[in-house]
This record gives sequence, structure tokens and C-alpha cells, in this order.
Amino acid sequence: MEYRHYIKYIETINAVMRCAVCGSDVASAEGKEAFCHFCEAYVYPEDKMQQEATAALNEVQDRIKKAEIENAIGAAMKMQKSSKPDVLYALGVFYSFFSDYRYYSLDYNLGGFMEGNSKNIYESLDLIAKSKEMLFKAIKIAGKDAEVDPNLAYVVFLSNIRLGRRVQAERALEMLEKTEKRSQIKDHARMIYAMATNDKDALKYISSGIVELNSFYYLAVYLIRMKRYKESRRLLEALIKKCHMPMALYTLHRLDLFEQETAL
Ligand SMILES: [Zn+2]
Repeated sequence: MEYRHYIKYIETINAVMRCAVCGSDVASAEGKEAFCHFCEAYVYPEDKMQQEATAALNEVQDRIKKAEIENAIGAAMKMQKSSKPDVLYALGVFYSFFSDYRYYSLDYNLGGFMEGNSKNIYESLDLIAKSKEMLFKAIKIAGKDAEVDPNLAYVVFLSNIRLGRRVQAERALEMLEKTEKRSQIKDHARMIYAMATNDKDALKYISSGIVELNSFYYLAVYLIRMKRYKESRRLLEALIKKCHMPMALYTLHRLDLFEQETAL
């Protein structure tokens, strides 16, 4: 399929579900299943975990939606004593988002970018440290039973990916493959791992999950690696229009910066 068809396809996706791990709205082709655009958790309707999603997590997402980032950070702070690995992982993702937000002083609606100043940069580094702390905590707690519980293995896997710890991520992926019965989760994890390790077969993994929005994000990243910037840009723009996907937003922003630099 050509990327123009992908964009048409992305435009037709209309069902929305809510991620049980981070409270984010998630667009889905048939409203049956999807991966969270914010934290990559597997999302499906009538997920019993959704009812347990804490009010505090929802508050963080609601504040982000309203671009009230200070309040969102405040709401996230309230949860940092949690001992639930999925909550700690979600916090790791949130703090990383806040850090990017600070670093780029990015207007949530893709408005003007301000010049980065040192205050923003220091705050950004603090937030990244906080993100790492949460991810390490998630790994520590989830790691105890990750060998027997695929949900925990997935949290350990994603946390290690976000920390750039490839060996540990690979180990968690092996655990996941042993216990997880849902092939879509295993496929998704393999795709993420292939992208993180620059595997030459990454495209194969991306193509097998291509009905799902996050796969298009990884395709866009893959296209950047292939120096196919224009196609990547079109895909990222289509994704940003369709759903709240911070990783697409920041990748597009980095592509903008890269193209500005190389145009000089
Ligand atoms: Zn999520």
C-alpha cells in the first residue's frame, strides 16, 4: 500500500476508547482494540481495568487536553507514591511528555515555538530524571512477577524500551513471548523492539500491524530513517489530526528542526 492510501485509511478511523493505564483517548479502526497513542498499553472496550483507572490519572489527561501543563504536573505528583507498576509506568510516560513539552516550549496546538531558554532546559532535565525514577520503580515492582504475568512483562518491556535498556528489554520480550496469549500484543512488542534496535526487518513487523494507528507512527519513523521525509511528514500530520499522539507531535517537530538546519 502506498502512503497516500495509508493517509486515507487513517482519516476513516473514528472509534474512540480510553486507555486504562494512562487515561488517554485512543482512536481505533473498529472500536475493538488498539494500542494507546500515549503509553502503548493494549486497549480494548469493556476492559475491566478501565473502571479502575484512577480519577487522578484521568485528571492528568484532562489537564493535558486543556493545555494546563502546570496543573497536569501537579496531578501527576499526587500519584508518585503509588505501588502499582502500570500507574508508575504511566507516570514515567507523563513526565517524559512534560519534559519534551518544556524543552520545546511547545504549544499544545502546534502553535509557535519559543526559543528554548535555560530555565526550560533545566526544568526539562528535572522532569526527565523524574520520568526515569518512575520507570525504574515500575520495573522493580513489576519485575517480581513478570515471568508469570504477561501484563507485568509488558510493563517491564515498555519501561526498559523507554529507558533505552535494550538487553533488559530483550529479556522482558522473551518473558512476554512465553506467557502472553494475545498475538497482537506480542507482535506490537516485537515491532517496538525492532525499531528500537534498528533491526533490518523492522518494516516487516510494522506491516503486519498496519491497521492500527501506532503502527503508522512507527512507519513514519522508519520513513525518516530511509530519508523519505515528505512521506513521513504527511503520515505524521494525518496522525496528529486524527488523535492525541504526543510521540507523533514531537517527531514532526524534530523533523521540522532537522529540515530547517539542513536547509541552511
Ligand atoms: Zn495509555
